[in-house]
Amino acid sequence: MSEHKDFLRTIVEEDLKSGKYKEVVTRFPPEPNGFPHIGHAKSIAINFGIARDYHGRCNLRMDDTNPTTEDTKYVEALKDAVEWLGFKWDNHVRYTSDYFDKLYEYAVELVKMGKAYVDSLDEETMREYRGTVTEPGRRSQYAERSVEENLDLLERMKNGEFKDGEHVLRAKIDMSAANMKMRDPLLYRIRHAHHYRAGDKWAIYPMYDFGHCLSDYIEGVTHSICTLEFENNRDIYDWVLDTLGLEPPRPYQHEFARLGINYTVMSKRLLLELVNEGKVSGWDDPRLPTIAGYRRRGYTPESILNFCDSIGIAKANSTVDVAQLEFAIRDDLNTKVPRVMCVLDPLKVTIENYEGTEEFDAPYYPEDVPKEGSRKVPFSKEIYIEREDFSENPPKGYYRLTPDQAVRLRHGYIITCKEVIKDAEGNITEIIAEYNPESKSGRDTSGIKVKSAIQWVDAKSAKTVEVRLYDRLYSSEAPKGLDDLNPDSLKIIKDALIEPAVITEKPDERFQFERQGYFYADPVDYTDEAPVFNKIVGLKDSWSKKDKPKASRGERKPQVKKVQVEGEVEPMSEAEQALFDRYTGELGLNSMVADILARDEKLSSFYEEALSVSSSPVTIANIVANEVARELKEKQAEELKFNAKQIAELVKMVDDETISNKIAKQVFEEMAKSGANPAQIVEAKGLVQISDPAVIVPIIDEVIAKNPDNVEKFKAGNSKLLGFFVGQVLKATGGKANPQVVNELVAEKLK
Ligand code: ATP
Ligand code: MG
Repeated sequence: MSEHKDFLRTIVEEDLKSGKYKEVVTRFPPEPNGFPHIGHAKSIAINFGIARDYHGRCNLRMDDTNPTTEDTKYVEALKDAVEWLGFKWDNHVRYTSDYFDKLYEYAVELVKMGKAYVDSLDEETMREYRGTVTEPGRRSQYAERSVEENLDLLERMKNGEFKDGEHVLRAKIDMSAANMKMRDPLLYRIRHAHHYRAGDKWAIYPMYDFGHCLSDYIEGVTHSICTLEFENNRDIYDWVLDTLGLEPPRPYQHEFARLGINYTVMSKRLLLELVNEGKVSGWDDPRLPTIAGYRRRGYTPESILNFCDSIGIAKANSTVDVAQLEFAIRDDLNTKVPRVMCVLDPLKVTIENYEGTEEFDAPYYPEDVPKEGSRKVPFSKEIYIEREDFSENPPKGYYRLTPDQAVRLRHGYIITCKEVIKDAEGNITEIIAEYNPESKSGRDTSGIKVKSAIQWVDAKSAKTVEVRLYDRLYSSEAPKGLDDLNPDSLKIIKDALIEPAVITEKPDERFQFERQGYFYADPVDYTDEAPVFNKIVGLKDSWSKKDKPKASRGERKPQVKKVQVEGEVEPMSEAEQALFDRYTGELGLNSMVADILARDEKLSSFYEEALSVSSSPVTIANIVANEVARELKEKQAEELKFNAKQIAELVKMVDDETISNKIAKQVFEEMAKSGANPAQIVEAKGLVQISDPAVIVPIIDEVIAKNPDNVEKFKAGNSKLLGFFVGQVLKATGGKANPQVVNELVAEKLK
């Protein structure tokens, strides 16, 4: 259940408590005239979520009363969307068209009660008669028709004896009602059209205001939840159900605010136009806000649901910043996906003093992701780096490779540039470099200081892949039409290079390409021979820093309500930017951690203080950005039980391998609670890291003995299972074993 109870759940709870209903029944009632978008996801999350939370039921109902726009392919897309989001509708899919007979009976009933009549005014006169907000309307002369005449006309309307528009059935309510919707609303209109399900049986079709409330009633719905634009229709909803005097309980309508997101459009009609005009590749184009589009792009259902949850359920319309959705997917993938290396714009580097080949062991996941697994990264004399990771005339604050500045190849060696080779036009075509044999990642004794590590791939073993870079579909925050489309919303790179394990081992479908963003193996076009990856989202919000595109000429910038997401929306101040640059540069923090620290005064000052007594900027930063940050969310720095110095001590115990990273988290929890010194806690709880093979080997033997199947698979070539064994051993020691040692010993044992 969501953390905060929203107003809808409050109503539902009260209705259950008061005994108004025994069971809550909701419904999601889309019109099958297009693919569902993220606004529908919100409605799905609300309706199915409430049914789930209160052990009720939620129906999926196709509100198919408009024969000309509906299609079974949309029905399928709607079903897919609900299932993909992880929900189950009650029983079978419902269709308003299945109730056409029943609805007609109710209409006849109203006519018999003198509460509905067949009107024959032409459209224009009818509009004129309706009056205005300030003036009452007047009733049509046809309202005086007798019940018999009305019944006869209605029957003949149904049988197709009249042309479209010749007659309508109207409720007889009040032509001077303040709510204009109540001025004798239309209940049925004539439509000689083939219905995709009902066929040609009907020449009349019910209007929303008549069909919806009764379909809810027929299905036993209790809470009919819809969006705000139906607020004025609620009076008709009530009128129809009450006038018919139906047996209770009857449903009631409740409205919430529609979801809108900036830089996109959220209406099936406008989306259909994009599809029909060929502005996108189809309903599942990854730039569209359709569920099918997000799904193909690589969004997870969890991220969409978390997003819907994070924006809450409001009673006033507002536009949500798309950065908040992007935050949700980043947040989800950050703790799930393997980190790999892919070079999008390759620049060749020849390492002059290197001969032969070797492979680096590289974990797929960073330490703070609770997953195990690693791959080999091949290395040889010729590699490719990202073109923009070399600069001949670097701007200030450039921390990557330059003629005078060494850089680390991620998971590998430190290289320095010896020579820059150019073509006749002066374009750089190759870098001649040198590596330092003492600088291998993890056992660096070179003493060389570098400011950053860059991604790279080995020339011989890298695979060529297509990468599709998606950006916002519109360049305007509140798009007005096709003119506002962002011409750069799709960029295709045909010859990116990726490390081989991604294709051969396929540790996942989604990846973080280090320093580039999150990517997804395209579910339609990907093959092992011609791999295609979609960019899901960048590592941080690149739009917040760029100048936003100007609104079109002569118009004021649309006012879009901003929803603040910590660290995502606003550009940094100069001071924050300076900190960020120092953290990512000099101190070598990854940009996400640096971002968190730099933007938060409390965190950065805590960090600076810890730094003054420690020499492990990266480890400290991780703890501050995660653990300490969590504590500081609720407390002021003075209220913390621990201080920066103790954190530095904790980190030192990790660095000198007294305790493992996992245990460090546990120790931290204890420090936060009791304020004890880390050394004391480790001592008292016996948490010292186990590095002694004499202790570890027997545990490994046990794990191996327990998992003969996996041993066999591993020996048959499934190298991914190494991570499984390591994980099991770590688990058996309560996280106390030294992962490095375990890794080596397991590999040794399984050889
Ligand atoms: P569109 O204008 O995109 O066609 P709609 O409201 O006509 O949207 P329906 O298929 O009738 O679409 O909607 C099904 C359900 O989803 C309705 O209950 C509707 O209120 C809800 N819904 C549609 N759009 C949104 C949105 N942007 N935010 C929240 N709920 C929405
Ligand atoms: Mg609609």
